Amino acid sequence: MPKYIFVTGGVISGIGKGVIAGSIGKILQSSGIKVSVMKMDPYLNVDAGTMNPLVHGEVFVCDDGAETDMDIGTYERFLDINLSRANNITTGQVYLNVLQREREGKYLGKCVQIIPHITDEIKRLIRYAARKDDADVMIVESGGTVGDIEALPFLEALRQMRFEEGKDNTLFVHVTLAPIIEDVGELKTKPTQHSVQELRRIGIQPDIIIVRSKKRLTEANRDKISLFTNVPRENVLSSPDLKSPYLVPQVLEEQGLSKIIFEQLKIPSRDVDLSEWNNVVKDMLESKDEVHIAMVGKYAELADSYVSVNHALYHAGGVLKCRVKIHWIESENLECDNSSLSELEKYDGIIVPGGFGSRGVEGKILAANYAREKGIPYLGLCFGLQLAVVSFARHVLGYEGANSTEIDPNTPYPVIDLLPEQKEIDKLGGTMRLGGHNIILKAGTLAFRLYGKNVIRERHRHRYEINPKYWNVLQEAGMVFSGFSEDMKRVEIIELKDHPFYMASQYHPEFVSRPGKPDPIFRGFVEASLMRRKSIGVSLKV
Ligand code: GLN
Repeated sequence: MPKYIFVTGGVISGIGKGVIAGSIGKILQSSGIKVSVMKMDPYLNVDAGTMNPLVHGEVFVCDDGAETDMDIGTYERFLDINLSRANNITTGQVYLNVLQREREGKYLGKCVQIIPHITDEIKRLIRYAARKDDADVMIVESGGTVGDIEALPFLEALRQMRFEEGKDNTLFVHVTLAPIIEDVGELKTKPTQHSVQELRRIGIQPDIIIVRSKKRLTEANRDKISLFTNVPRENVLSSPDLKSPYLVPQVLEEQGLSKIIFEQLKIPSRDVDLSEWNNVVKDMLESKDEVHIAMVGKYAELADSYVSVNHALYHAGGVLKCRVKIHWIESENLECDNSSLSELEKYDGIIVPGGFGSRGVEGKILAANYAREKGIPYLGLCFGLQLAVVSFARHVLGYEGANSTEIDPNTPYPVIDLLPEQKEIDKLGGTMRLGGHNIILKAGTLAFRLYGKNVIRERHRHRYEINPKYWNVLQEAGMVFSGFSEDMKRVEIIELKDHPFYMASQYHPEFVSRPGKPDPIFRGFVEASLMRRKSIGVSLKV
């Protein structure tokens, strides 16, 4: 029978509950326990796929094609496991299931209500995920903040689960924020006290409190929180701001987290060995060498929209013993004047990441072309592949006005076009080419050398592809197609010969990259960037 750890949040959202949930998982996993993690999101969208990443953060794609909350990516990176649709449930999905059942007549005669029908469905989905993942311990993160109206059914379901599964099988971790008043430098515990009161009002008494704050809690802070919340002082842990989220497991474990969990969940005490994890993290953070990578996109997209790309770069840097510094370049600026474009020369490598729609596209196309002409390492991810092909068509083949039909439906040279099966689709939710697909690599190519095998599996999220009508001309002009889908009907990787590193993938290698195990295409890119830095000593001032 699985045991459950419930992670709730107080005070404000966005304080890194996902990292705490992942870190608890990492600690338990490092003691040999089989852990899984899931997230409950209180919004009405059935999945995150239809949500704007600028507001909500990156849409993370699982191997089974689920479009999920970015915390699922955090869990996968911390635990090095593949999660699925079952690990991210939303209010929308819960209601959809219940309403479908109601229409099928399954509740015949009954008045269908939030309690018990919605809460029963939530509990069913949690237990289903724990069974499916064959978890000894299932960590369940409840999205949002205590006190939100929309999160109430989820918290009520957790309250019921404590009652049904028993105290030895469930544990509540409440994550809060302690602000610091700048002028006096004093750390305030009052919001934590209030959020625990709110939790108790709905029948949940936390067993552990983890307090996020700029600096560590003092003993006096812990005493005070303990007194006001009924949580033993040794169960009040501090999670101060750190250089990297990957340092959190060690910081929590130093405060005795595993011991508290083992005791309450009646798990025989065992050793937690985080040394391997910590070594990998150390390489990412403490190496002497640096590389500077330009990410060309829109400022507005910034950090949270591309978390997985950022992390994939750090993972690659870690194994190559160099720290990766990411610099955001506003693609629209590149469109305005040539001097901004030539600024790109300072960087060791250029990435054009995934994206949708036409704003800033011309700047991305110019960047892809500049990298090709100047021999700067280039990595294109999905949209970054498509735009590299557009730039090649325009500048090498001389196809003026070449474009993707996503950007210009009337282009004279539609080198990127809708996937044939997409032409019939009119709904937007969950309808792209999604998730893991096998890819066949062509012997003798750089891709084949980097991956070191014939068949790889990578995750996708796109509607457009290289138009097969242009395959021949592109290849004749020197573009190498080094990876194909299994049915050989679509191009998955392109590369250029006679260039230090020019590669792009139709898939998203960032979704499978893990600490200590970067995706080979990221590793190859960072390695080439490092070589550029070492050979010509690129002089970026940072
Ligand atoms: N907009 C492009 C497509 O739909 C690229 C998508 C992406 O970068 N994820 O194919």
